[in-house]
Amino acid sequence: MQQLVFATNNRHKLEEVSAKINGRFELLSLDDIGCTDDIEETGTTFRENASIKSQYIYQKYKLNCFGDDSGLEIDALNGEPGVYSARYAGGHGNQMANINKVLQNLAGETNRKARFRTVISLIWNGEEHFFDGTVEGSIRTEPSGNDPFGYNPIFEADGYNVTFAEISLEEKNRISHRAKAMDQLIHFLSTLS
Ligand code: IMP
Repeated sequence: MQQLVFATNNRHKLEEVSAKINGRFELLSLDDIGCTDDIEETGTTFRENASIKSQYIYQKYKLNCFGDDSGLEIDALNGEPGVYSARYAGGHGNQMANINKVLQNLAGETNRKARFRTVISLIWNGEEHFFDGTVEGSIRTEPSGNDPFGYNPIFEADGYNVTFAEISLEEKNRISHRAKAMDQLIHFLSTLS
């Protein structure tokens, strides 16, 4: 079976993709290939950051691989927090600080339009391919729902009247930016002989 590296150690992401890959490829994580390097995300776009990860692995290990990068884009904030989503308020992954910063920056703003975006860079036999998935929505004026992941408590997808913290994980995995980008990747992989 052909090997394919997903440049992550995030267990949830790995499970989601390996379920979809359905035994067609042997999916390997960074741990699986013994890569403990800290691959710095120095890009200013999701595309650059996804590419930094996949290129790094391909150059060093010569294995087919893909990397992803995601975040929240808010129109009234010129696309912020964007690539800085995880560290918008400073330290990495402080959910409430990040949410509060968004709410403060949007105080009094009527244009609450936003989207989550995932970009995947796949390097297959030395050629790079990109896949882009988005889910459109808006930013609430206050958090709703208990979910420790990112901006879920303040993001409401279009057509829903609950936040991403209040819909089931199953539903979220069906409509999310990550699911859409992953589905494109899986479709591409399924066309390979
Ligand atoms: P990553 O590139 O998938 O690690 O995402 C970077 C950051 O974007 C996360 O730490 C979250 O702050 C935010 N983010 C990405 N996807 C989601 C999501 O589905 N819900 C909430 N926040 C998200």
